[in-house]
Amino acid sequence: MKIAFIGLGNMGAPMATNLVKAGHDVHVFDLVEGAVKALEAEGATRGESAQAVARGAEVVISMLPAGAHVRGLYLGRDGEVGLFDALDGKPLIVDASTISPEDARHVGAAAAERGLTYLDAPVSGGVGGAKAGTLTFIVGGVEAGFEQARPVLENMGKNIFHAGPVGAGQVAKICNNMLLGILMSGTAEALALGVKNGMDPAVLSEIMKQSSGGNWALNVYNPWPGVMEGSAASRDYQGGFLTDLMAKDLGLAWELALGSKATVPMGSQARNLFALHSAQGSGQLDFSSIQKLYRAGEEG
Ligand code: NAD
Repeated sequence: MKIAFIGLGNMGAPMATNLVKAGHDVHVFDLVEGAVKALEAEGATRGESAQAVARGAEVVISMLPAGAHVRGLYLGRDGEVGLFDALDGKPLIVDASTISPEDARHVGAAAAERGLTYLDAPVSGGVGGAKAGTLTFIVGGVEAGFEQARPVLENMGKNIFHAGPVGAGQVAKICNNMLLGILMSGTAEALALGVKNGMDPAVLSEIMKQSSGGNWALNVYNPWPGVMEGSAASRDYQGGFLTDLMAKDLGLAWELALGSKATVPMGSQARNLFALHSAQGSGQLDFSSIQKLYRAGEEG
């Protein structure tokens, strides 16, 4: 199948690589030349623009940072023609970025006006899941589009959920990431408390993993350096899921709460923690670096 893949960052690159490995004819584009080159080396075909890679594609997949990028790509910005108006066919559009449900519905409505099927298909599972092809896809959109996308998504993920109409994928993803932000900061807080009271972080992690505090951060994403081989914490918090992206997602949760008159005191706390952490210069580190916030002044 000819697939266009736009956005080859921490997540997009391994996802597109898995599509190549599955035997698809994958055409890739990113604003960063190095990212395109790396995918070319994996067997993908490079394109000079989003329009170029989407030419003749049966499916277009985007994996971009935030809503503004997704709107800009599909609808155009600064007077430029968006991808929807530059397509030569009617490919299935799958946006796997995490954006607001409102943005997803807006782009989805613009797609529908042009006779295109749009799915919001945000993912969970992190860079590790993207590399291993074990992501969870949380899809919003019409049933027929979901069924059309499923075999392609199965090349990149293990659990493929249909959450509801366009936007529903984002609602579920935002709820999940709000919980993740709370869990990661709570885990970092507990580890710092234990270490300040003489515990070995690896021993404490193992105890909590097997006890009622066990959670995903402890199991697969331990925020304390050196506790877990291969974790972002063990490579100076480089790569992974950036603090700025977690702060963005917690902001999306906050907007969702405002719009629906929901109360999210824990989510608000987490949003403030990650926003503060980003403001202190850690925006481009993996989000598990929130651990540093709890270790401030440790050396002194
Ligand atoms: P990233 O910042 O590493 O990558 C984004 C890529 O998009 C970059 O390479 C950038 O150059 C490219 N890009 C931006 N605008 C573009 C455009 N107009 N055309 C082409 N390329 C463009 O981000 P990421 O970590 O890969 O995350 C992507 C999305 O997935 C985000 O919405 C994020 O919230 C979500 N997400 C990330 C993770 C994770 O663990 N990193 C997990 C789940 C979901």
